[in-house]
Amino acid sequence: MAGDPQADCLFCKIVAGEVPATIVRETETTVAFRDINPQAPTHVLVIPRVHYPDAASLSAAEPQVVADILRESREVAAGDNIEDTGYRVVFNTGAGAGQTVFHAHLHVLGGRGLQWPPG
Ligand code: C5P
Repeated sequence: MAGDPQADCLFCKIVAGEVPATIVRETETTVAFRDINPQAPTHVLVIPRVHYPDAASLSAAEPQVVADILRESREVAAGDNIEDTGYRVVFNTGAGAGQTVFHAHLHVLGGRGLQWPPG
């Protein structure tokens, strides 16, 4: 069923505690953990506990959870003291945009200067 954990999903396994991750924050609807291959001094992924393959499908089905994820991104930035220097939040959506894990996730990147446009 849409939203239910998927047996073959790595991030569902992190939510379930079956795959280790460096967890930064947890709420009733979200989990935030440090990216295993950080692209900046702060690189945290904020994910919904429910499984949707990308931000588009999540926002269509559970828009409140998208709001929860964005609120959590601010808490992550505050926790890492990068609010003042600036940070970036990114939902890669679709393989053509660089998405490789098909459980919706928001990247929170900061702690260094970030270029625009991204690659
Ligand atoms: O947006 P995209 O799908 O490319 O991002 C997936 C992210 O998940 C990557 O930044 C990757 O380093 C991260 N990852 C992780 N822990 C894993 C597997 C992938 O943090 N066990």
